Parts: sequence; C-alpha cells; structure tokens
Amino acid sequence: MRIKTKSKRLITALNYVLKKIPKKDRCTLLENLFRVISRNSLRTPGDTLGSVNICQTSAEFRPFLKLDCDRRQLLGQILFYKDVFRLFSDKALIGIVAHEFAHALRAFRIGGNWYDEMQKRWRREEKYANKIAATWGFSSNIKAMERERKEIVDPYFTFRRNGR
Ligand SMILES: [Zn+2]
Repeated sequence: MRIKTKSKRLITALNYVLKKIPKKDRCTLLENLFRVISRNSLRTPGDTLGSVNICQTSAEFRPFLKLDCDRRQLLGQILFYKDVFRLFSDKALIGIVAHEFAHALRAFRIGGNWYDEMQKRWRREEKYANKIAATWGFSSNIKAMERERKEIVDPYFTFRRNGR
C-alpha cells in the first residue's frame, strides 16, 4: 500500500488508525489496498454567478485495476478529498479514516465481485463500515464524524452553495 498525500494531519490519522486495527485485518488491508491518496474535490459551477458546487464527500473507497503484463488484478484505493476533510476535527478525521478502511476490509472479505455487491446495498454498507470501525475501537470517532457532518460540514456547504 502506497500513501500519497502532503497532508500531515491525514498521515498522522492514517498511522494512528492502522496501528489500532487488529493485525489480521491490518494485513488484509495492506495486501489489498493499492494506494491511499488525497486530492481536491470535484467542483462544478453553482446556480448563482460565481458560486461553486463542491462535492461534499470527504473520502471514498474505490476499485483500482492493476494492469500487469500477464494478469489483471482488482485492488482497492482510498481517495481523501482535501477541501472537505479539512473541515473535520482530528477526532472526526480518525473516524473518516477508520470508516474507509472498514469499507475496504468488507470488500476484500466479499472478494472478486465486491464492487457490484456493495453498490447494490450502499446504504447498508455505510452501517457495516461504522460497525466494523466500532469493533476496532473507533466508536467515539465515528460519532464525532457524524455529528460534525450534520452540524458543521453540511451547513457550511449549504451556505457556500447560496453564493455567499
Ligand atoms: Zn462510507
């Protein structure tokens, strides 16, 4: 697994979470996750002049197809969106990281067909991810993540969208 980010906060959170995850799960993640990267989130023009719509996702777990000469391998990757995750506290950011790692673990447990399987029931997958993260000991971080999403981050984007 490669980590490609300049965010020291994110690197600290990633290391903290990885250290706390039980060894067996950690090994599964390190073997199957191709990379963890950060980038800016997607922006599209907003409804009012000069306003922008910023995609509000802070992070996502996605497939990564590794192409070798003689074989194709479906791995996973986690993308963190800088201008969204920066709005969360350190405590909540740890929750976001744990949540994404939990999605990845679910996928690698399902195996080959994980992308379709998980797309079909993404709402349930969100709950599963939080449950796995809780068993790893991150329930207070998950709570912080959910609370800040509702009380700080979503209202902030609503404000931005209105062109102010
Ligand atoms: Zn999720």
